[in-house]
Amino acid sequence: SPTPASLLTIFGASGDLAQRMLLPSLYGLHRDGLLPPTLRILGTARSEFDDDAFRTSVADSIERFVPAADRDDAMVRGLLERVHYVPATLGDEASFATLGARVAELRNGGDVVYHLSTAPRFYGDICRGLGALQLAGAGTRVMLEKPIGHSLASANAINDSVAAVFDESRIFRVDHYLGKEGVQNLLALRFGNAMFEPLWNARHIQQVQITVAETVGVEGRGDYYDDYGAMRDMLQNHLLQLLCLVAMEPPSHFDPTAVRNEKIKVLRSLRPIGRNEVAAETVSGQYTAGAIDGQAVPGYLDELGRKSRTETFVAIRAQVDNWRWAGVPFYLRTGKRMPRRSTEIYLQLRQVPHSIFGVAPQPNALVIRLQPDERIELQLMSKTPGLDRSGLQLSPVELDLDMHEEFANVRRRLAYERLYLDAIEGNGTLFVRRDETESAWQWVDAIEEGWRAAGMAPKAYPAGTWGPSAAVTLTDRNGHGWRE
Ligand code: NAP
Repeated sequence: SPTPASLLTIFGASGDLAQRMLLPSLYGLHRDGLLPPTLRILGTARSEFDDDAFRTSVADSIERFVPAADRDDAMVRGLLERVHYVPATLGDEASFATLGARVAELRNGGDVVYHLSTAPRFYGDICRGLGALQLAGAGTRVMLEKPIGHSLASANAINDSVAAVFDESRIFRVDHYLGKEGVQNLLALRFGNAMFEPLWNARHIQQVQITVAETVGVEGRGDYYDDYGAMRDMLQNHLLQLLCLVAMEPPSHFDPTAVRNEKIKVLRSLRPIGRNEVAAETVSGQYTAGAIDGQAVPGYLDELGRKSRTETFVAIRAQVDNWRWAGVPFYLRTGKRMPRRSTEIYLQLRQVPHSIFGVAPQPNALVIRLQPDERIELQLMSKTPGLDRSGLQLSPVELDLDMHEEFANVRRRLAYERLYLDAIEGNGTLFVRRDETESAWQWVDAIEEGWRAAGMAPKAYPAGTWGPSAAVTLTDRNGHGWRE
């Protein structure tokens, strides 16, 4: 089994993700004594920093992105002492050799984690370069950022180029949702309690909804986003990972093989949606000008500055074709410029088999909210207090667990704190295996091809609404309806 790494090398260390998430996460881990004492951190990118200049920029990132209450000067200095930098231009052999020499020196015979936080088109070059310098053998691991391709074919090309150098057990594909506390809590809820699992199937659950709604538009990332769209940028990875965790069978262990073996079975059970089904089972949309929180915002095409048929919203009625879930719709939806930022999983139970109260009680539901706050709500029916001539009156009530209140003294971790810790220790449970990305792409590719073949273009929706009206029809047809 792997030993904790003695070096973490970050490619793209001057980038946006590094500043906002990666360096603040490393600070959090260092502050709490969770990094191996001898771990060194080596940043690289084209920017011409020396160690000192890079340390200053790391200190700036911490200042900007770590809340003041969590910052401590001595701890920041302690982290900076671990940090090094070497400029290298990908594709340039001479500068890559300098980088290699630095890696060899700093790892000091120990394990290395390479985190590729650059555009994915560089992944092949980086891995080839490391392989050529004999820096990719036993004791090395590689973390890959999304997006890995924008179709099965392009994902295969990237995965093949990495696999030529690193074997699968040493490849850690990041889906940062898996690093989120609330997402892991879904596993705790399902497999740490006896009360949910007996109800967690088609006999008791009538529908599942997974929503990832953003209020932001494309914000300067228009060119990147336009190549992907909501389906490839969000649904192929984050929403399908959430679906796997909701739908999978209980794994026998919490380890990389057992957990990922169960997730892949879910992906392989997804009923294909192709040309003949896209019109009935999917809705895509693109926002036009509108308002969020009373503020006027421009439409997608105005932000982009050109014409485009890229979807900024997608909703799908997915089916997991296996014994546990036969007939239960999994409604997936994600979009930009929605009225509220919200990530949640909603499971609605079936009606009581017979109502003794005259009116049919509302079905029970479990809501697992990840954003903007972490909470778990259980919707129940209770007696409305008081007397009523016509008999008992029922009201819907909620058991509402606010995780921040419940664990008020526990600092909330950034997703990358968990992910870095696991990659440093060599634990791949919360990373995505190659067969998972491939299955997910296969399912998504068929829908994208279906859209093209059926000539389906995204429908307009005003910014600040929950997508095109067709999204409402998608659930209403089954008498369901989105949870607002
Ligand atoms: P970014 O801000 O554009 O950073 C790219 C990094 O790559 C910079 O450090 C850049 O530094 C370096 N770079 C570019 N060309 C290079 C070259 N030829 N040789 C060496 N280094 C080069 O991108 P990002 O937003 O940080 O994203 C990084 C990765 O994370 C991408 O795969 C992205 O898809 C993924 N990701 C980002 C986010 C996010 O919120 N930002 C979210 C999810 C996934 P220099 O200019 O100094 O070379």
